Amino acid sequence: MKRYVRKFSISAFATFGALTITLLAYFFTSKTIQEREELEFKNISFQVNQSISSRMKTYINALVQTRSMFYVTTEVDRSEFHNYVNNLNLLKLYPGIQGIGFTQRILKKDLKSHIAAIRREGFPDYKVWPDFERPEYHSIVYLEPFDWRNKKAFGFDMFTDPTRRVAMEGARYSGKPFSTNRVILVQETEQDIQYGFLIYVPYYDSVDVDATIESRREKLKGFVYSPFRSKDLFRDILEPIRNERVGVEIFIGDDASENLIFASKNLQGIKSPEQVLKNDLEVAEKKWLIKTYALPGFSKESDYTAPLLLLIIGLLFSLSLFWIVWKHQKFTRLERERAKNLEALHRIGKTLSAELNLEKLVQAITDVGVELSQADYGAFFYHAVDEKGVDCIRFTLSGLSRETTENQELPFDKMYSTIFHKKTTYRCDDITHEPDLIQKLPFLNLVRGHLPVRSFMAVFVISRTGKVLGVLFFYHSKVGIFKDREQMLVEGIASQAAIAIDNAKLHQEMTDAVAARDEFLSIASHELKTPITSMKLQFQLAQKLIMNDDEKVYDREAVKKRVLLAASQLERMSKLVNDMLETTRFSSRRLDLIQEVLDLNDVTQLVIDSLQQQLDSKNIKLTFMKNAQDPLVYGDKNRLEQVLNNLITNAMKYGNGKPIEVITEEKDNSLLLMVRDHGMGIPADKIDSIFNRFERVDSNSPIRGLGLGLYISKEIIEAHKGKIWVESVLDQGSTFYVQLPRF
Ligand code: ADP
Repeated sequence: MKRYVRKFSISAFATFGALTITLLAYFFTSKTIQEREELEFKNISFQVNQSISSRMKTYINALVQTRSMFYVTTEVDRSEFHNYVNNLNLLKLYPGIQGIGFTQRILKKDLKSHIAAIRREGFPDYKVWPDFERPEYHSIVYLEPFDWRNKKAFGFDMFTDPTRRVAMEGARYSGKPFSTNRVILVQETEQDIQYGFLIYVPYYDSVDVDATIESRREKLKGFVYSPFRSKDLFRDILEPIRNERVGVEIFIGDDASENLIFASKNLQGIKSPEQVLKNDLEVAEKKWLIKTYALPGFSKESDYTAPLLLLIIGLLFSLSLFWIVWKHQKFTRLERERAKNLEALHRIGKTLSAELNLEKLVQAITDVGVELSQADYGAFFYHAVDEKGVDCIRFTLSGLSRETTENQELPFDKMYSTIFHKKTTYRCDDITHEPDLIQKLPFLNLVRGHLPVRSFMAVFVISRTGKVLGVLFFYHSKVGIFKDREQMLVEGIASQAAIAIDNAKLHQEMTDAVAARDEFLSIASHELKTPITSMKLQFQLAQKLIMNDDEKVYDREAVKKRVLLAASQLERMSKLVNDMLETTRFSSRRLDLIQEVLDLNDVTQLVIDSLQQQLDSKNIKLTFMKNAQDPLVYGDKNRLEQVLNNLITNAMKYGNGKPIEVITEEKDNSLLLMVRDHGMGIPADKIDSIFNRFERVDSNSPIRGLGLGLYISKEIIEAHKGKIWVESVLDQGSTFYVQLPRF
């Protein structure tokens, strides 16, 4: 759990870092784009302002130039004015202007002559209007182009209109171009009524006019002026920089609705623009306010695709990072675990290989297996050899005491052959799902009270030669305990264990061999020493008798006796040496037989005769029963005599001086020879092993022997394709059987 929390925190931390970077990147790119768009909008606003300003300057310049014409030409007539304005080409170049005109100041006394003069020019209907009496009149006399619309203004006295008058007076007093506030031009018809404004440039009767108000009023001769229809004007000005997503409003004065002279069409119905910029502009002594609007959609959606993409990719990356870090941590944890496991196995391997005692070794293997697999308990069933040298199955336990198991025969062999014949690891997460297996598993039906086993695992210990040395079993009361890790560890232990067991067995065999050799050497030297000592004694005595100078004292019989005794000792010694030689020969398989047809009764009789003297001296009665008729065998005479000699000698040695029976018999198609004594007998567990090399029932027995006689006899009989065995009852005697094929 703790590990998970830690793992999660590291992954979450990395993801959080990546997320923060993503969000910051998103924020900054968005901001940069926003700033760029703001800048773009500012730039458009600036262009709007500049265009309006420069166009108005052009118009005002044109008005001022037109006025100059009045100064340079003494009398400006209609055609001159027409030509001049036409030459300016203004209306064609900048069509926003409605025209350029001249409004003349007429004193009351001159009104009539003025009207008459204009009428004479070919305008019989000309009048100055509105028609009411006043000290001075102002009449539009020229207005180019003199088209149908402009003709509507012909003769109009603009001074009678308060708004226009304010501007006219302003111009008159300042001497500068002066604009009106918003007006509706007299040229307007019923249709497409537009707001407009007018700019006046005063014209006095001389260029150098006094600065006083009085003199300016006196000397004013009229105004050169221009009417502007604002929609036409501003559409024309703004056309080159038109942007569907930018709206423009123009006011003369502040942004009160009565001051609005122009609002671009695209502003209709717009409630919340993205941005608004206000710019002031000075036009003919009036303050204009130009408002530009960034309409919804000005910020191009495509511009935000990049940061959005960045955000999505960043988020995806952050999430992947979580996954990657999570996986990486898992990977490093597994690596660490593997290294730890390997280290543990290495350590265990060292411990196991150092243990040469098989009993201790198998216990250690079981304990280590239980520890590393985290099992509740475990057992190790292994092949061993019992005291009789017979193969058997033994087991060790770990985490469980031996008393808990009932003293039943273990069903290992059965289980081994039914379930585990494949020799591969067997793992089960919940054994209750496999009722068949439960019946066959060791312990589950042996352990008192049936331990609550759920998880189970069996791992084979197999030697290098492929032989199954044993099986390790692990049990746990919980479900799903043994995973790949546990399996890997225990399999590791099993392979180490196989080597260690092999080593221990080899070591045991070697130790046994060394012990047998040592025992043999000690017995052999003892056996050799006895006849040598006796021989030495006999010779010394004989020598003494021979060396005696006195002929009479020389006892020929006594010397003969000593020499004979010495010779018999020599004979015994030579037999011992022979036996030893034979043994080494057998081990290298060099038993050559010189075979001929023999009568078993004759051969046996010969041996008995050769031993008769010894039997007599020991007072042992031997009966030979020749029950077999013509018992012919095809054999090596000397070798068969050697076997018979061994068996009868043994009967004499271990027969407690009791009678001996030697019997030949026919059995089926073979011949049977029996040597029976009534002596000490052989314990049941030694019956088979006494035929092994150096094997003696009691190595401390006062009866001398090398433990080679029976071994040699067995080799000889088997070389004759026969059989040798013994039946014996302790303290009652033994019968040795030799069975040979009949010739
Ligand atoms: P040795 O007699 O030289 O020890 P053997 O190979 O002839 O060697 O016999 C092996 C062992 O078998 C003897 O040491 C003895 O313990 C046992 N043995 C052989 N023959 C008899 C017998 N007739 N009665 C009891 N024990 C016997």
